[in-house]
Amino acid sequence: MNQRRKKSVLMIYPKFEVKKLSKNIKGFIFDLDGVITDTAEYHYKSWKRMAEEEAIAFDRKVNEQLRGVSRMHSLDILLNGKELSLEKKKELASRKNKYYQDFLDNISQDDLLPGMSDILKRLQKENYKIAVASSSKNAKIVLKYLEIDNIFDTISDGNSVKNAKPAPDIFLYTADKINLKPEECVVVEDAESGIEAALAANMTAVGIGPEERVGKADFRYDKTSDINLDEILKKS
Ligand SMILES: [Mg+2]
Repeated sequence: MNQRRKKSVLMIYPKFEVKKLSKNIKGFIFDLDGVITDTAEYHYKSWKRMAEEEAIAFDRKVNEQLRGVSRMHSLDILLNGKELSLEKKKELASRKNKYYQDFLDNISQDDLLPGMSDILKRLQKENYKIAVASSSKNAKIVLKYLEIDNIFDTISDGNSVKNAKPAPDIFLYTADKINLKPEECVVVEDAESGIEAALAANMTAVGIGPEERVGKADFRYDKTSDINLDEILKKS
């Protein structure tokens, strides 16, 4: 009797061992801007318009520093040490946001970045949890305009957590919402701060963009149409 029980335990045990060895990816968390869609140009034009009205120097080089950064922090980068009252800063940030919202009225499903529609469809079909974790407070509105807001299991935005990327908070919060452990999640990001946040959260990081920006990621692709899900799933 005793021997039989021992034998069955030995037979079952290796199966568990094999399972533990793989990271067992169960969900994908996507950044929004520069991954699902590219509203970066609208952000640029909105900041530019506000900056011109306020005689603040702003160009595409400064704009590069705003990737993945919150609205108020972005404003601080624009101000470059110039001191303003908190009230004035809030007014400038909300004016920029109003211009941005005006641009959003023009987006549609055609504004999904190349390949993203197929990736989302496949993940949905294969029962992976899918989520969005964006620093943008407009994330839900943008996804609604893109007509894909209802396919995600959860959407975290700039209102969800206090500490912005590169803190891991928004990814940990999102994983918790979809009932997954961090190591079961893949994060797709185009910002250096986002890759740092994903790695700090102990998730698999997929970077979209050049080596100098997202080179720390576990997988890197130049653009969204290059993303290779099989490679990510096989090697994670
Ligand atoms: Mg981004």
